[in-house]
Amino acid sequence: MRRFLVAGNWKMNTTKESGAQLAQALASEVPSENPAVEVLVCPPFPYLTTIGDIVTGSGVGYGAQNCYHEAPGAFTGETATEMLTDIGCRSVILGHSERRHVLKETDADINLKVKKALEAGLQVILCVGELQSERESDQTEAVLNTQMTGGLAGVDGAAFGQIVIAYEPVWAIGTGLTASPEQAEAAHLYLRNWLKDQYSAEIADATRILYGGSVKPDNAKELLSQENVDGALVGGASLKAELFIPIIQAAV
Ligand code: PEP
Repeated sequence: MRRFLVAGNWKMNTTKESGAQLAQALASEVPSENPAVEVLVCPPFPYLTTIGDIVTGSGVGYGAQNCYHEAPGAFTGETATEMLTDIGCRSVILGHSERRHVLKETDADINLKVKKALEAGLQVILCVGELQSERESDQTEAVLNTQMTGGLAGVDGAAFGQIVIAYEPVWAIGTGLTASPEQAEAAHLYLRNWLKDQYSAEIADATRILYGGSVKPDNAKELLSQENVDGALVGGASLKAELFIPIIQAAV
């Protein structure tokens, strides 16, 4: 059985103070023994240590929103995976649509980061998803294939214990539009079959595939009850404990 994962992507939001309050609220509500659901928050880099200290010992883990593929050195403005593990961070989101489309990261860039993060022992949440125009022109599966093939190039099946896939249709991120449960399930099934074809039935069966795109308390239950949806990557609604906690509860 796959354990649900509900991850909050805070993006470039919160202050140190508001982030700390949010983390405290989550840490006090999420049971430390939570076999059914893994819970993660991904704050901005400057607050990772503060938030990490607050949630340590609770049922909430913490992860980064990005990393660089090189070892520590002369890379101004970047963050090494060694720095993330040094502060106890155990997960990283890679290939988020904002990094792909706003920061212009390519599949090749993302692939370098995926491999480096895996080597560092981090859990990688690899995001994939199509633009609205790509969905409308029936390109969804082709886009997912390209992003999975590119992002996971050279990644050995043995690493899959550390890999989570997040299906995030770009048209549903931060827009208030949500994929219907049927649209989400179809994309997740495609991704699971992709893992089966490219790796193995065991890997396909064990790998968690999260849905992301305007997940809210009122749509979480239906999305999370789809057979191939194993959790959620939540943006906007992860910034308010009163919205994020019901989403976590919807996964139970
Ligand atoms: C995200 O940033 O990964 C995301 C899914 O955002 P939102 O929930 O706000 O659509």
